[in-house]
Amino acid sequence: MRNRYAKTIDQQSAELLRKMNLLSVPVDVEGVAQKLGAEVVYGDLEDDMSGFLLREKEVVKIAVNRLHHPNRQRFTIAHECGHLYLHADQGDRLWVDKAHFTIFYRDSNSSSGDKLAEIQANQFAAGLLMPEVLLKEHLTQELSDVDIFRLALRFQVSEQAMTLRLVSLGMLAAT
Ligand SMILES: [Zn+2]
Repeated sequence: MRNRYAKTIDQQSAELLRKMNLLSVPVDVEGVAQKLGAEVVYGDLEDDMSGFLLREKEVVKIAVNRLHHPNRQRFTIAHECGHLYLHADQGDRLWVDKAHFTIFYRDSNSSSGDKLAEIQANQFAAGLLMPEVLLKEHLTQELSDVDIFRLALRFQVSEQAMTLRLVSLGMLAAT
């Protein structure tokens, strides 16, 4: 499940946190966005919309659906940071994000390049919010459901995001 590409993005997000001096739990994801030059705003968005990133000349704005759960908002900000950091070569544009975990299957209209960009942004977000080095510090023996719940609380991410992350790192067997 873990490919070379994911590892590279993982390394990028970890290096970024280290450089910004933000490699601690829970990760200050809004701090990361600000240090990347983005203004984070919270607004009433449609329920299926997580948020968006707008890059236009000097303006870099991340909008987050304020009606969503705080953990989901954190994931959205981390995801938009992924677009900002990984896809800077695309220049000025608007990235609109719907349900992160399903966009690949749902959004059949988007180009294959955009689909790849969404996968990359999700990988970046997972690495940013749940850095492997910090997860290892918090892991002891066999993981139970309660441990995953506790880890999710500690890292301020959803249990779903934590489970996916642990599986992708090979720290938890896929069920
Ligand atoms: Zn996206």
